[in-house]
Amino acid sequence: MHINYNGTCQFMNSLKEEKIDILGLPLDKLVNVMQVQYGKGPFHAEALYREVFKKGGTDIGHAPEFKGSPRLWSALEKAIRLLPGRVEKTIEEEGLVKFITRLSDGLAIESVIIPMTRHNTLCVSSQVGCKMGCKFCQTARMGFKRSLTTSEIVGQVFNARHLLGHDIKNIVFMGMGEPFDNFDAVMTAVRVLNSQKGCDIALRHMTISTCGVVPGIERLALMNLPNIRLAVSINGPDDATRSALMPVNRHWPLAALKKSLDAYPLPPRGVFLFEYILIKGVNDSREHAQALARFIHPLPVRLNLIPYNPVTGFDHQSPSDEQMHDFAQTLTDKGIFVIKRWSKGRSVSAGCGQLGKI
Ligand code: SF4
Repeated sequence: MHINYNGTCQFMNSLKEEKIDILGLPLDKLVNVMQVQYGKGPFHAEALYREVFKKGGTDIGHAPEFKGSPRLWSALEKAIRLLPGRVEKTIEEEGLVKFITRLSDGLAIESVIIPMTRHNTLCVSSQVGCKMGCKFCQTARMGFKRSLTTSEIVGQVFNARHLLGHDIKNIVFMGMGEPFDNFDAVMTAVRVLNSQKGCDIALRHMTISTCGVVPGIERLALMNLPNIRLAVSINGPDDATRSALMPVNRHWPLAALKKSLDAYPLPPRGVFLFEYILIKGVNDSREHAQALARFIHPLPVRLNLIPYNPVTGFDHQSPSDEQMHDFAQTLTDKGIFVIKRWSKGRSVSAGCGQLGKI
């Protein structure tokens, strides 16, 4: 027996059970559901988790734990909802795969599979649209529609692995939306994705990227997840430049951002990932680089420099290779570890800040 991906089950009976939105449930919560609703425990909960997250959930009824318990499976089959959304379109170029997922209410989100040296990384969305209004960002142009549920976030990983067949080992919360504006759903997704009995993605292989929502950084600091990686989108080394590009800076200026990072409990040898989109004539001068070095000091930072990907409505250009090199060199001379990223995926609008042209 199979569970359909549209969330309906093939067989119904008169028992009224609570629905089990399995992609949104950490394992301990599923154990609890199994105990309360079915009088079962971790043995069956772990089997369900394994069948869904490791095998794609297409043949749970034939798993040894359920094959001999037709009544249990019959009840579960009616209760389980497997709703990863419908992948409507995939666009591939230079090894990148952007896919568009249609959610149950008709809204759509984008996710990007990025091939890395050893594993694939999945860039997941946490919201439909975004409130933050960063000037260089296509998602901001959509406005804010709503936050995603945990199962809609995890569903992107589920589809990338089980529907599209990609071996995903890294997750970056850098797609549509500001993860800290959807803190609880994102952190529950982290728990689901991290479970060794299920998705088994290590915390050190997950990166949460914020535009600088200081209360989110402070909340994450309290969660005792030292291995999760924190990325911060900087893009301006002084308040005037940054506020012009990123309205969030008016709420939490650079001094407040730095204070929250100073207090953040990085693990030994841990670093912050800073992202800096270089925009010609806006934030790419040598003075900007020197001011950025002053802001960074003495934080342990790995800085990703990304040339601006033109988006509609923000009429600016990428810097030349020479300007980018000069900017990077100024920072390297100050002892900062810089990686120049020649943003992949521009032609399929899957580059940094380009998601949202659905
Ligand atoms: S860059 Fe990120 S935080 Fe800023 S508007 Fe775009 S999606 Fe939102």
